[in-house]
Amino acid sequence: MHDGWVLTVGHQVLDVAQDRSVPSGVEIRDHGDLAILPGLINAHTHLEFSDLTSPLGHPGIPLDEWIATVIRNRSERPLAESPTIRQGAREAHAGGARLICEIATPPWLVDGDPLATEIMAFAEVLGLADSRAEERLAAAEAHLLAIAKCASVTGGVSPHAPYSTSLETIRRSVDLACRNRIGIAMHLAESAAERELLESGTGPFAQRLRALGVYREACFGRGSQAMLDILRLLATAPFALVVHGHDLRDDEIEFLIQQPRMSLVYCPRTQAFFGHDPGGLNRMLRQNGRIALGTDSRASNPDLSIWNEMRWLWTHRPDIDWQRVLRMGTIAGAEAVLRPDLGRIEPGAVCGLIGVSGKTDRPDHLISEWLEVETPRWLTAPLETITPYESPSMSDHGADS
Ligand SMILES: [Zn+2]
Repeated sequence: MHDGWVLTVGHQVLDVAQDRSVPSGVEIRDHGDLAILPGLINAHTHLEFSDLTSPLGHPGIPLDEWIATVIRNRSERPLAESPTIRQGAREAHAGGARLICEIATPPWLVDGDPLATEIMAFAEVLGLADSRAEERLAAAEAHLLAIAKCASVTGGVSPHAPYSTSLETIRRSVDLACRNRIGIAMHLAESAAERELLESGTGPFAQRLRALGVYREACFGRGSQAMLDILRLLATAPFALVVHGHDLRDDEIEFLIQQPRMSLVYCPRTQAFFGHDPGGLNRMLRQNGRIALGTDSRASNPDLSIWNEMRWLWTHRPDIDWQRVLRMGTIAGAEAVLRPDLGRIEPGAVCGLIGVSGKTDRPDHLISEWLEVETPRWLTAPLETITPYESPSMSDHGADS
């Protein structure tokens, strides 16, 4: 929309147009040659690693080896402190995120101070042994109670991954999500090694789990339907984010696409860091399935900027239409977490608008401008006090053109 304007009232978008004049009596802020976008959605991260200065391991590291490195790193430093989480939230916000889907290790963010942006904090549940899973499910319940007191934080549940979480624990996590009417997020089909473990109980993951002394015969080697069984379970949650999914098969993608409240979350630079074959993701793209974008954590990514994920895709995946990438970082993410008020600029949407360069009047030339933008500019504060809507003649209205 060229030469357009957005009318905001307090915390809400009231109108957007290009072919009508700005309503009279409103305060006009002219942003010049700026493209106005909705605040972005970072659909997957782990803020507890936000103090890392570079990813753990090395590019191309096998996933099981990287996980062992993460476990070692975690044991060598104190449990995620609130300042680290807060620092990560600020970084993600600076990268254009209006909403952050965070995988939280309870007890999480206990200091109660205001946050830079809105967070959906999925309590991570894991454990192959029943006693460990029991502990983490109880911590997840406590997390949901604790965050009820935090402004701008909502909850979710995240059974970690098939190699760390039994099917029974995934089932109980989904039950918890259903009882609380919240979403679920799970790492799934990240690499071919994960499928080998699940279906045959063999391969590098099986060896690693055995070496760690946590392998459980009953959890693995469940045959060719094992991944589909997990997808079917996740589909019963109020909504489900399937994180990564690089290795999903045709029938699994087919199932996922048929579920209106199930979405794939793609973390482009993390997939590139590990060098995972994105075959499943490409199938999802071809089938036009809903794909949201995440940064994953600083343990596998250089920063937490979802804008940088989009820039990376515009550079490295020219086969994906540029507007589709834009949708992945905005509308798709918002729809994935059932937030139709985010990810778009239309009457009824909430504010938290960002601006990036927009000098050209050719939409297909925008990308070359956007690739130069390192940090989007916030035009409206996402968490300013919500002003109740009164009438368009009130003096606190602003038209951002
Ligand atoms: Zn992750």
